[in-house]
Amino acid sequence: MQDAIKEAAREIAEAKNLVVLSGAGISVESGIPPFRGPGGLWEKIDPMKYANVDYFLKNPAEVWQVLIKDMKEVLDHAQPNDAHLGLARLERLGILTTIITQNVDGLHQKAGNTDVIEFHGTFAWQYCLDCSKRIPTSEVNLSQIPPYCECGGILRPDCVFFGEMIPTQDLYRSQQLSAACDIMLVIGTSALVQPSAHMPVIAKNSGAKIIEINPARTPLSSQISDLIIMGKAAPSMNSLMDEINSLQ
Ligand code: NAD
Repeated sequence: MQDAIKEAAREIAEAKNLVVLSGAGISVESGIPPFRGPGGLWEKIDPMKYANVDYFLKNPAEVWQVLIKDMKEVLDHAQPNDAHLGLARLERLGILTTIITQNVDGLHQKAGNTDVIEFHGTFAWQYCLDCSKRIPTSEVNLSQIPPYCECGGILRPDCVFFGEMIPTQDLYRSQQLSAACDIMLVIGTSALVQPSAHMPVIAKNSGAKIIEINPARTPLSSQISDLIIMGKAAPSMNSLMDEINSLQ
């Protein structure tokens, strides 16, 4: 792994336009469980069922009770970890331009990154299914499940549920950035959810190097990734940043 970190650091230190694709794994060390893998939500519930828009619209109280209420509790207290902070430092160094994240936790922005495409929306806001009014999640009153807007409509997170489209502008911009980057750093994603998993393929086909950080292999590992750092996000990013600092 040390060789992969040294080589990745050399590549990243010379990059002009590094784009990151992040997934739930980068926030595991902030205490947020991923969907898949050890400790994932999948071990307790089926996210394909509860995070599906049709199921939510038919059973909003159940989905709030089983999935969204607990997510609010976890996300209300989560803080960026060293992997998020390392990426913020890469932006300050003028190397990293944009993060395309599948996460809805807002931790990249909290760490200091300024250009973050929230591919699957954000959990920081809810909106009313009837009048579309937006309300910060931190202000939602959970004494009644599902929570209601003052107009009487049911609130839902401003996230992209399974079965919903990625907002066109986010998808288009992510495709453009993926095609234009010289390195794509892919951190903590199982690369099983489309169309986000296609971004490294676009980057690779456009000539970028793909560097992957993940403790487990993914569908990208054998054919798309040029370098694989097999480790957890925070310690791997710390080692990577130490190497990059020594090259500056
Ligand atoms: P995923 O749950 O499918 O996969 C998680 C990946 O992270 C796995 O490949 C796993 O090996 C890896 N991983 C686990 N621990 C890690 C660690 N410490 N460091 C680095 N990698 C680690 O996640 P996904 O690919 O992002 O796709 C699932 C969907 O889940 C996304 O659409 C996302 O919106 C949603 N989700 C988001 C959050 C969040 O916002 N933090 C949390 C759970 C799920």
